[in-house]
Amino acid sequence: MAGVIVFLKGGMMSQIRRRKCLHCNCLFRPDPRNRRHQRFCSKPECRRASKARSQRRWLSKPANRDYFRGPEHVARVRAWRAAHPGYGRKPLPEGSALQEHSLGQVTDPNKKSAALTADPLQELCRVQPLVLLGLIAHLTQATLQEDIARATRHFQQLAHDVLNPGQTHGDQTTPSP
Ligand SMILES: [Zn+2]
Repeated sequence: MAGVIVFLKGGMMSQIRRRKCLHCNCLFRPDPRNRRHQRFCSKPECRRASKARSQRRWLSKPANRDYFRGPEHVARVRAWRAAHPGYGRKPLPEGSALQEHSLGQVTDPNKKSAALTADPLQELCRVQPLVLLGLIAHLTQATLQEDIARATRHFQQLAHDVLNPGQTHGDQTTPSP
């Protein structure tokens, strides 16, 4: 906990004030431990907007764009697509495979939800927890285990919402007894 004490010593507690959510414009109090990064309130739609924004920001950094643009990655995605027919519905022009694929998914939550409910994600969760953990750390730029754990719980909740879409809107799909 030494790190937290040092963190708070600079008078940061007094600076924690309400902030305007970038998505819905309401005022909210950021989580003190996350105040530097938090730009969105805790409403589900704003959390989704926050996630999409952080992913866009990550992609907007030149180094990360290269990560998706390099020939190795193109080859990797082509191989993955060859092994998963039906994922990229329309063929893309040479060289632009990744940009459209990765960026398009970020900005279209409905399409993403449909993809996430398919089996491949469950398979990924089952067999590659370390890859998933690394990916969460990478996307959230978190290095502390507690931060990663918190992000993981958030993603877990998102996944739960995706897999149980009826729960938040009244359970309409439950068959009568
Ligand atoms: Zn909001």
